[in-house]
Amino acid sequence: MDGSDMNEKMVCCFCAKQIDIKIAVLLQVFPYNNKDESQQLYCHRMCFVNKLHKNIPKHPDLLSDDY
Ligand SMILES: [Zn+2]
Repeated sequence: MDGSDMNEKMVCCFCAKQIDIKIAVLLQVFPYNNKDESQQLYCHRMCFVNKLHKNIPKHPDLLSDDY
Protein backbone atom coordinates (compact mmCIF):
# COMPACT_ATOMS: atom_id res chain seq x y z
CA MET A 1 0.00 0.00 0.00
CA ASP A 2 1.50 3.31 -1.06
CA GLY A 3 -1.20 5.55 0.36
CA SER A 4 -2.81 6.27 -3.00
CA ASP A 5 -5.82 4.03 -2.56
CA MET A 6 -8.08 5.02 -5.46
CA ASN A 7 -10.95 3.03 -3.97
CA GLU A 8 -11.22 5.52 -1.16
CA LYS A 9 -14.78 6.20 -0.07
CA MET A 10 -16.20 9.58 0.79
CA VAL A 11 -19.59 10.51 2.20
CA CYS A 12 -22.05 12.35 -0.02
CA CYS A 13 -22.92 15.65 1.67
CA PHE A 14 -26.54 15.44 0.52
CA CYS A 15 -27.61 11.82 1.12
CA ALA A 16 -24.85 10.77 3.57
CA LYS A 17 -24.26 7.52 1.67
CA GLN A 18 -20.79 6.40 0.73
CA ILE A 19 -19.45 7.31 -2.68
CA ASP A 20 -16.31 6.20 -4.48
CA ILE A 21 -13.95 9.17 -4.65
CA LYS A 22 -13.29 8.41 -8.33
CA ILE A 23 -16.85 9.32 -9.29
CA ALA A 24 -17.65 11.87 -6.59
CA VAL A 25 -18.35 15.47 -7.47
CA LEU A 26 -16.09 17.80 -5.50
CA LEU A 27 -17.73 20.93 -4.15
CA GLN A 28 -15.40 23.63 -2.87
CA VAL A 29 -17.38 26.03 -0.73
CA PHE A 30 -16.16 29.51 0.15
CA PRO A 31 -18.35 30.76 3.02
CA TYR A 32 -17.15 34.27 2.29
CA ASN A 33 -16.54 35.29 -1.28
CA ASN A 34 -13.64 37.56 -0.31
CA LYS A 35 -11.73 35.10 1.89
CA ASP A 36 -9.53 32.19 0.90
CA GLU A 37 -10.88 29.75 3.47
CA SER A 38 -12.93 26.98 1.97
CA GLN A 39 -14.42 23.60 2.71
CA GLN A 40 -14.38 20.64 0.36
CA LEU A 41 -17.45 18.46 0.14
CA TYR A 42 -18.17 15.39 -1.96
CA CYS A 43 -21.44 14.31 -3.46
CA HIS A 44 -23.14 12.11 -6.02
CA ARG A 45 -23.67 13.74 -9.39
CA MET A 46 -27.43 13.31 -9.27
CA CYS A 47 -27.72 14.39 -5.64
CA PHE A 48 -26.16 17.71 -6.64
CA VAL A 49 -28.16 18.13 -9.84
CA ASN A 50 -31.42 17.33 -8.06
CA LYS A 51 -30.76 20.02 -5.45
CA LEU A 52 -30.28 22.75 -8.05
CA HIS A 53 -33.26 24.64 -9.39
CA LYS A 54 -34.21 23.44 -12.85
CA ASN A 55 -33.49 26.88 -14.31
CA ILE A 56 -29.87 26.93 -13.12
CA PRO A 57 -27.46 26.04 -15.93
CA LYS A 58 -25.39 22.97 -15.18
CA HIS A 59 -22.03 21.80 -16.45
CA PRO A 60 -22.65 19.20 -19.19
CA ASP A 61 -20.54 16.62 -17.36
CA LEU A 62 -22.94 16.80 -14.45
CA LEU A 63 -25.68 15.55 -16.72
CA SER A 64 -23.76 12.63 -18.19
CA ASP A 65 -25.10 9.16 -17.58
CA ASP A 66 -21.65 7.73 -16.96
CA TYR A 67 -22.17 7.45 -13.18
ZN1 LIG B 1 -25.74 11.34 -2.56
